[in-house]
Amino acid sequence: MLHCVYHPIYSQLMLPPSHGFPITKYRHLYDYLTGTLPPEQLRWHRPDRLNPGQLTRCHCDNYTSAFLENRLDARAIRRIGFPWSQALVARTLTSVSGTSLTARLALKHGLALHLSGGYHHAHFDFGSGYCVFNDLVLAAEEALTQPGVDRVLIFDLDVHQGDGTAALCADRPQIISCSVHCESNFPSRKPPSNMDFPLEKGVGDAVYLQTVEQALTLALRLHQPDLVIFDAGVDVHQGDRLGHLCISDDGLRQREQLVLSTCRDHAIPLACVIGGGYDRDPDSLTRRHGQLFHAAFTLG
Ligand SMILES: [Zn+2]
Repeated sequence: MLHCVYHPIYSQLMLPPSHGFPITKYRHLYDYLTGTLPPEQLRWHRPDRLNPGQLTRCHCDNYTSAFLENRLDARAIRRIGFPWSQALVARTLTSVSGTSLTARLALKHGLALHLSGGYHHAHFDFGSGYCVFNDLVLAAEEALTQPGVDRVLIFDLDVHQGDGTAALCADRPQIISCSVHCESNFPSRKPPSNMDFPLEKGVGDAVYLQTVEQALTLALRLHQPDLVIFDAGVDVHQGDRLGHLCISDDGLRQREQLVLSTCRDHAIPLACVIGGGYDRDPDSLTRRHGQLFHAAFTLG
C-alpha cells in the first residue's frame, strides 16, 4: 500500500500565459498515477490548510504576516516568482501542510509520498525561486516533536542547491541538510548545507548516481537519522529547462530506487516530495515525477 498525499488545490493557481511554471503538473501527476497504478494499492490522503501560527517555527512573523496579508513589496514578490493572490496563499498553506502530513505518515507506515513540496529556496524572512515557506524544515521540526525522533535528514536531490534549507538548518543541530546539486546554477549565493555535493554542468548518470550513493551512505552513517525527507526534484533530467545536468530517464529511475531501497534496508522512515521539474512538455514531466511512485510501488 502506497500512502500518497495530494490536494487538487496544488494546480489551482491562475498564472499569466507567459509564466514559466508548470502549475498543472500536480493534477497531471495525480491523473497519471491513478491511471497507471492499481487503485487498491494507493491510499490517498488530503492535507488540511496549515494553521499560519505554525509557520513561526521556521519563519519570521513580519514576513509570514506580510505574505498572508498581501503586504510584501514588489521586489519580494518578484523574488518568489508567483503573483500574489488569495489562491496562492491557500495553495501554499495546503502544500506546506501536505509535507508535514507526509512526514507523519512516513513515521507511521515507513514510507509516504507527497505530490507536491520541496520549497527549499524559502528562507527565514523571504521567499525565492517559487518557494514561499520551507515545507521541508517545517515538516522536520514537527517530526522532532514526535516520540523517538531525535534527528531528521533532509536529502535534497533537486538540481538547485537548497539554500533556504541550508540557512535554516545552520542553527538546528537535529536537522541535517544534505544537497547534491549543479554548482553553476541558481541560487548564485549558496549558504553551506551540513553536507554539499556540488556537480559540474553536464554530469551524466554514472558520476551522478555514484555521488548520490556516496552522499546518502555518508549522511546515514554520520547522522543516523530517525526520518529522511527526500526532495526528489527531477530538474536534474537532461531535458529540463533549468537543470544543466544530463541525467537520463533510466538514471532517474535508478536514483529513486537507490534512495527508496537504501532507506528501506536501514529501516528508516522516508517521506518524499516531488520538488522541481520544468519541462514544457507535460507528458514527459509527468512521467519523470511518476518514476518515484512507480519505483516505490515496485519495491513494495
Ligand atoms: Zn530545482
